[in-house]
Amino acid sequence: MNAIPENQLHSASLAARDLRVLWHPCTQMKDHETLPLVAIRRGSGAWLEDFEGKRYLDAVSSWWVNLFGHANPRINAALSAQLDKLEHVIFAGFTHEPAVRLAEQLVALTPPGLTRCFLADNGSAAVEVALKMSFHYWRNRGLPQKTRFMTLQNSYHGETLGALAVGSVELYKTLYKPLLMDVLTAPSPDSYNREPGESCEAYALRQFAHMERLLAEHAAELAAVIVEPLVQCAGGMRMYHPVYLTRLREACTRYGVHMIADEIAVGFGRTGTMFACEQASISPDFLCLSKGLTGGYLPLSAVMTTEDVYAAFYDEYTNLTAFLHSHSYTGNPLACTAALATLDIFATERPIESNRIKAAYLGQRARQLEDHPHVSEVRQCGMILAVEFVKDKRSREPYPWTERRGQLIYRHSLQNGVLLRPIGNVVYFMPPYIVDETEMDLMVQVAADGIELATCD
Ligand code: PMP
Repeated sequence: MNAIPENQLHSASLAARDLRVLWHPCTQMKDHETLPLVAIRRGSGAWLEDFEGKRYLDAVSSWWVNLFGHANPRINAALSAQLDKLEHVIFAGFTHEPAVRLAEQLVALTPPGLTRCFLADNGSAAVEVALKMSFHYWRNRGLPQKTRFMTLQNSYHGETLGALAVGSVELYKTLYKPLLMDVLTAPSPDSYNREPGESCEAYALRQFAHMERLLAEHAAELAAVIVEPLVQCAGGMRMYHPVYLTRLREACTRYGVHMIADEIAVGFGRTGTMFACEQASISPDFLCLSKGLTGGYLPLSAVMTTEDVYAAFYDEYTNLTAFLHSHSYTGNPLACTAALATLDIFATERPIESNRIKAAYLGQRARQLEDHPHVSEVRQCGMILAVEFVKDKRSREPYPWTERRGQLIYRHSLQNGVLLRPIGNVVYFMPPYIVDETEMDLMVQVAADGIELATCD
């Protein structure tokens, strides 16, 4: 079909054409028999707009990627300028200024010791790179028996086969288990499960004892432990105390096992510091970054690692120790330019500081939900705030997943001009940092009404 002039496009007709030819991610497509697909014409700031002019507040930063708003003038200008210079070039044997500057800045910004930057083009690919690099490092160092990985219960690291294997959210994983490598899974430090009266810190330390035991038992065969620092996002925005990361860093060093920090979702200020690892004062051996890296503009990911890891691959070609992982779009200059513009906004507008005030406001507004008869917890880590609703507040018995109550909230929020996308029985906000108080009021009100609607029977 030929392109139709934009002023003659309509949301409903575009959605109908879409459903004839497209297949969407994370979706049972049959749902769209009753659930309207939203066709977006443009975005501006924290808002998305459809073809009829209806606006939606993007309270989830379009899958946690957007940091400084849609159609951000500074990122747009940087991209336009780069378009006239170089759209893409092979990244093996060739380089370009945006990639060099980006790597220099990431080395300076990330925790100490992470002096090497390997680029890929999405979050799952970054996780694959970190896993393969860790395994390959031990092989190059003469320890080929270190072939296994350890993960935390309820973790998520992406959906390609390696990344899926080291995650543990059953919804994504169960079906594919026959295809996946076998990993060790340690109990999560998730504070939601602490005993009444127990502090998050005490619980994290108690849970760490299991991790320590598994490390002691399996160190000889373990290449790395992979964690989402502070917040298990896809696992329902479950949060834990930074002491767990401090202990894990120390134990990984002691047992000779790498630590991979997957900050794909929590990096770039989401948890209140530029990187979540900073709150535990640690440097992992591998730091995976993506999503907010380009301000939510273009797919790009980076794996930051140490000089020690780099050195283990630096050798005569004929020894066949080189890391040969590649993606066609590795180091794409446009994506690197969007990332540089994003880092420039961090440097000049100091959003981490202004986010402290915004996060405090959001927390104070959302706390009212704690009294709701079906809300078991309101939790927050920086600019991530989650509200968990349950069938029984006292026992915390969840609603059966088959009832899909979160979807009622999703529908309600769209009708009321907010994009909320609950994960099971967890409604959360992860807004772009340009969100203002009126917009936060709207988000919280729509979520509160949605929870009431979904739990009123
Ligand atoms: N790791 C974490 C912690 C994530 O949240 C995600 C995406 N939600 C990924 C990895 C995978 O990233 P991508 O979707 O870009 O493959």
